[in-house]
Amino acid sequence: MITESPATTDHGVRPETLAVHPPRVEITGSVPLGVPLHQGHVFAFESADALADSMHSGDSFLYSRMGNPTVRTLEDAVARLEGAAGALSFASGMGAINTVLLGLLSGGGHVIAQRCLYGGTYAMLTDLAARWGVDVSYVSGTDPAEVAAALRPTTRLLYLETIANPTTRVADIPALAAVAREAGVPVAVDNTFASPLLCRPLALGADLAIHSATKYLAGHADVLGGVVAVGDPELLARLRHFAVELGATTDPFAAWLTLRGMQTLPLRMERHCASAADLAARLAAHPAVSTVRYPGLDGHPDREIAERLLPDGAGGVVSLDLAGGRDAGRAFVEAVRLASLSVSLGDVKTLVMHPASTSHRQLDAAALEAAGIGPGTVRLAVGIEHVEDLWTDLDQALAKAL
Ligand SMILES: *Cc1c(COP(=O)(O)O)cnc(C)c1O
Repeated sequence: MITESPATTDHGVRPETLAVHPPRVEITGSVPLGVPLHQGHVFAFESADALADSMHSGDSFLYSRMGNPTVRTLEDAVARLEGAAGALSFASGMGAINTVLLGLLSGGGHVIAQRCLYGGTYAMLTDLAARWGVDVSYVSGTDPAEVAAALRPTTRLLYLETIANPTTRVADIPALAAVAREAGVPVAVDNTFASPLLCRPLALGADLAIHSATKYLAGHADVLGGVVAVGDPELLARLRHFAVELGATTDPFAAWLTLRGMQTLPLRMERHCASAADLAARLAAHPAVSTVRYPGLDGHPDREIAERLLPDGAGGVVSLDLAGGRDAGRAFVEAVRLASLSVSLGDVKTLVMHPASTSHRQLDAAALEAAGIGPGTVRLAVGIEHVEDLWTDLDQALAKAL
């Protein structure tokens, strides 16, 4: 049904006015199967009271920084997957992470964080420490006694990652969260590497599950986004209020693209995990490779934690050390043809990275080792291509890295 605004039908208005007020098409008798994209950022009301109610209750849509139907659909979709009371969506993973850090920490506060963190998160914590006097204690992520020893009366947050980058260490979320909860300290888990299909941190005792939606949730290297799923409705309301003030809001089209990607998340994760496990085993048997780190592979230091926490698959990221060191790592990532030399992960396409010659080029051998990165470490973010085609490509690239 097409409805005209009364102002344009009552008295024949001029083309200039008609151009500004196109008719509205309302759908009756059917529903769209695809998620509607509400790109408009501002909503009109019938009465001043209705507008005032919306401003104060937040129940209806008013202005898209405060809420948008397409963005809300994404938030509710992630909240359901994570088993959360609700979720907040952001322009990027860092927007989500910073809203959590800035929303929960204040000057003089203390945070306990896993040592091997996503680079952007580590940089932000370092910045908060230098400029706002936030104290940070780093722990391994696998030993609850370390968390217990690090707790202070001023501790405001325990921050973990399900699977760390690029070491693929797996945090013992239930054991560490239990210690923090006992002390009344909220627990945030960056669940990007696992996705809610492989791990639901809230069910393991965490309070917040964070995603760079840019990675597995969206999955197609065409959109940036971040989401925070929150278990407690009161904490959700407090963070939503803060997020609206901070303004790292999701554009509705970005939310729409993420929702489109998420419909195939279960199928993609199944393939990512199966291919990563298969390739990890083949890589471990290759003479050019000295070490393979994949949480699903025997010999991984956190194999037992991974079996408990990631029963449906250990993710799509494999980290390997080339026996030939730095030169071999560089030769390998430049020799792949099907895989792309690229940052990021969680994409349908396979991506490779050699931290020692790219993201961590400025670090010397000691600093690299402290970050858990060897000179020949390569991160392989396995895509959903046919696994035999991937192996053919990796095998020919390994031959150039011997
Ligand atoms: C990529 C990534 C981020 C940052 O997300 P952006 O969407 O790039 O801002 C945070 N955490 C992890 C684990 C990531 O991989």
